Amino acid sequence: MAFELPKLPYELNALEPHISKQTLEFHYGKHHQAYVTNLNNLVPGTKFENATLETIVKEADGGIFNNGAQVWNHTFYFMQFSNHGAKTPQGKLAAAINAKYGSFDAFKEEFTKAGATLFGAGWAWLSKDVQGNLVITQESNAGNPLRSGLTPVMTCDVWEHAYYLDTQNKRPDYLKNFWEILDWNKIGERF
Ligand code: MN
Repeated sequence: MAFELPKLPYELNALEPHISKQTLEFHYGKHHQAYVTNLNNLVPGTKFENATLETIVKEADGGIFNNGAQVWNHTFYFMQFSNHGAKTPQGKLAAAINAKYGSFDAFKEEFTKAGATLFGAGWAWLSKDVQGNLVITQESNAGNPLRSGLTPVMTCDVWEHAYYLDTQNKRPDYLKNFWEILDWNKIGERF
């Protein structure tokens, strides 16, 4: 069965002024869609023809991995946003962040540093390990923590296409805006 671009649970202007409608038109409507289209063109006739997206992310290589992981990563990224969600972590995720990093602010600082210092294109991730401990990692290109046995909880896309229309070369400004649109209720459900 062909993979499809998931429908967003918000309008394309819902994240303004932090992420513009124009950025979503390109990032979701063009880039995310292109990864879906490419994946659908690549899998027929391979052993991944009937595989789930998660299996592709964990086991594929080359173009099938790159496009499959980018489909997974972008869906995970776009689904964590809202213009009316909880602005701070709640419940057991809040407790885990405080236990590991000391405070939400200290966590934000460490995660922002991971996003800011990632050289080139890639993703900053908050995941939990098999013991339930939180871990922040950097992945280049289409990289995904599922391949390391981690369970992703939250992510930031730091490819230039995620922010260039809004903040041009200034990735730190994008990272500042990023915190304003995270929905910590949705993110908490992943923990
Ligand atoms: Mn992207």
